Amino acid sequence: MTTGATGLRPIVLRRVLARCCPQCGEGRLFLRYARLRESCSVCGLVFRREQGAQTGSMYLTAAVTQVFAALLIGLAWIFTDWTVSVFLAVSLPLALVFCFAFLPVSQAFWCGVEYVTDVHNGEDWARPRP
Ligand SMILES: [Zn+2]
Repeated sequence: MTTGATGLRPIVLRRVLARCCPQCGEGRLFLRYARLRESCSVCGLVFRREQGAQTGSMYLTAAVTQVFAALLIGLAWIFTDWTVSVFLAVSLPLALVFCFAFLPVSQAFWCGVEYVTDVHNGEDWARPRP
């Protein structure tokens, strides 16, 4: 099953970044913005299996937002002579918007990570489809 899961990764990544079910690629992942459906309407794969299953996506969002904020700090330090208050007035809203925009990407990515892990572990509910 290891080889199958490895070959499955690009397919699952493409599906989840299109915000579709990692298993069938047809059902939609989200009910609305950053709100995962309980399960796939096409194949029945459960997206929200347990409390805290999306904790990894929150950590991923936080980490990527911190990298984004560090880039902002670096760019502002190199290319501007802004005061700290001007920098904060510009960069804090940008970082918050980035975080808000990245959250569903992170959730979808994490859903794919969980699915590939389940396939790799041979869980009986995870059945890859072409
Ligand atoms: Zn599905």
